[in-house]
Amino acid sequence: MPSVACCTMKVWKEVEHMGRIIGIDLGTTNSLAAVWQDGESRLIPNSLGEYLTPSVVSIDEDGTVYVGKIAKERLISHPEQTASVFKRFMGTGKTYKLGGKSYRPEELSALVLRKLKEDAERYLGEPVEEAVISVPAYFNDMARKATKDAGALSGLRVERIINEPSAAALACRGFGKSGWQEENDETLLVFDFGGGTLDVSLVDCFENVIEIAAVSGDNHLGGSDFDAVIAEQFCRENQLEFRQLDLKRQEIILASAARAKCALTKEEYTVMSVADEDFWEKMELSNRKLIQISMHLFHKMIVPVKSVLNDARKKMLDISKVVLVGGSCKMPTVQQYLRRFLPDSQMTAMNPDYMVALGVGIYSGIKERNEDIKDVLLTDICPFTLGTGIYNEADKARPTMAAIIDRNSVLPCSKVRKFRTATDFQNVICVDVYQGEEYYVADNIYLGELSVSVPIALKGQEAITVRYTYDINGILIVDVKVDSTGEEARQIIMTGMDTIAPEEVDAYVKELEKLKTPPAGQEETKMLFAWGERLFAQSTGELREEIGRRLQYLHYLLNQEENSIRIKKWEKGLREFFENADRYLDMAELSWEMDQGDSWYQERTQEEEDSEEDYVRWYDGHLTS
Ligand code: ADP
Ligand code: MG
Repeated sequence: MPSVACCTMKVWKEVEHMGRIIGIDLGTTNSLAAVWQDGESRLIPNSLGEYLTPSVVSIDEDGTVYVGKIAKERLISHPEQTASVFKRFMGTGKTYKLGGKSYRPEELSALVLRKLKEDAERYLGEPVEEAVISVPAYFNDMARKATKDAGALSGLRVERIINEPSAAALACRGFGKSGWQEENDETLLVFDFGGGTLDVSLVDCFENVIEIAAVSGDNHLGGSDFDAVIAEQFCRENQLEFRQLDLKRQEIILASAARAKCALTKEEYTVMSVADEDFWEKMELSNRKLIQISMHLFHKMIVPVKSVLNDARKKMLDISKVVLVGGSCKMPTVQQYLRRFLPDSQMTAMNPDYMVALGVGIYSGIKERNEDIKDVLLTDICPFTLGTGIYNEADKARPTMAAIIDRNSVLPCSKVRKFRTATDFQNVICVDVYQGEEYYVADNIYLGELSVSVPIALKGQEAITVRYTYDINGILIVDVKVDSTGEEARQIIMTGMDTIAPEEVDAYVKELEKLKTPPAGQEETKMLFAWGERLFAQSTGELREEIGRRLQYLHYLLNQEENSIRIKKWEKGLREFFENADRYLDMAELSWEMDQGDSWYQERTQEEEDSEEDYVRWYDGHLTS
């Protein structure tokens, strides 16, 4: 009897302890996770104690996988094993070759998700089973399906995908213990300026309803464009030709440009410098100069703002709040520029980096059915037009697009349109289904087709009624009815053509499981190696030698299986050394005074002294052996 009771207990307990649900902002440049805890949405720190995990994956020949900051460093030291910005190609079938094997963007995203999941489990001390993931509002069905697949591959259940601007609006509305802070009617303009894309959305809010009214954006405008402009200018001023430099050097200059750009958030003026084997050049940069050299980028920023207002038939004056989201909104120049166009609106740039993640965190709380949080209704819109090809009298070979569901229609939605036969004695009408905004159907995305037969008659005498029904899960139902005969046909289109089929998921999961993640305790060490290798690639002369030696010493300590305190102490000093080296490489005006007694080591503690002495002893022995 007791054993039965025991058994029941266990089952009951398992049900009670179902894993947590977290919210994930799976970004092009950076990803974040958040969870609903103690009545608020909280960001989850990763294993390095940081909230932002760069969406970069690096895979060694031996199958070791690095995700985040370490992988970002390896973008420079091991470019052929490292991938970034793969979110842009979700659901496209593009592949990346890393460490001798190819990976789909879904798989690379799965590795990022797996890292966030592991970090969250460590932070929460309990398993995480499910995630709510945010995606750009313009993501098509394939990209959404691919995002869900990435979740499945990482071992996370993903039932709900929410739009990034809806998440930002949710965070902005101050949804917390006290429920809605504001019950009033608001129209928010969410300006999400990230690393590679600009997404602009109009979001209507009323009580607990959040509805996207229109979306627009620029798929090829983001922080990296500023980096590129700064890098080009740097090369111009230093008589270099960016495009003629090798990949590694280009990456080094771009990374330095990005650091200079970020420095201008806090300061008016900075010096960008790049040291390499054959050159050591610098360039002065100020916010004023940045505006001058990137005026064309600023002009592009305002285009999607006008477009969403047009699509939603609203004026600037109708906007209650402008919500600045994304790392590039931290640029003072961007904020200044927007103020010229959006003068009367209240601009909120509270936590541009965190808004989306905090919002998804709130939604994960709602999904967990926490009692301290009210439910919220997020409605989606169809970010693209769905239509069919129609006969083009002027150019018979090139049918044109007839829209059935217009872009920015609120979902779910069902629209009807009538079509007539185009030629005499036509006995079949084919409805081909397309998605896109282009005039010629051939320039849009083909989704499928269905045909019905019609009685033979003169042109225009027979008609069909076509109904498109489209919901937030990306299922498009096409119904066609022949008016004269009443014959009906239906086609259901699940637009995940090039995504992973359910029966393939297991195989992919097995492949990904073969990839080893370094154990959490070693991550700091791996990070230092990646950091050191990047600095080694970037520096020259005495500094480079010193970096190499210090890395070797770390290897030596690890091989000796020295007591971990000694390793930890060395790592702490190494981290400082690298920070200084980075600062030094960024500021050419400081001189490298190795032989004048390491000027930046003046404030060393006794512990650090000891650690350093051990190193010098090792180094001397090492040279003579
Ligand atoms: P995504 O949504 O694409 O993942 P993020 O919102 O994280 O991207 O933004 C990343 C971009 O923000 C990068 O181009 C980065 O250089 C830029 N960025 C981050 N911090 C700053 C800063 N302090 N000043 C200027 N740009 C910044
Ligand atoms: Mg983002």
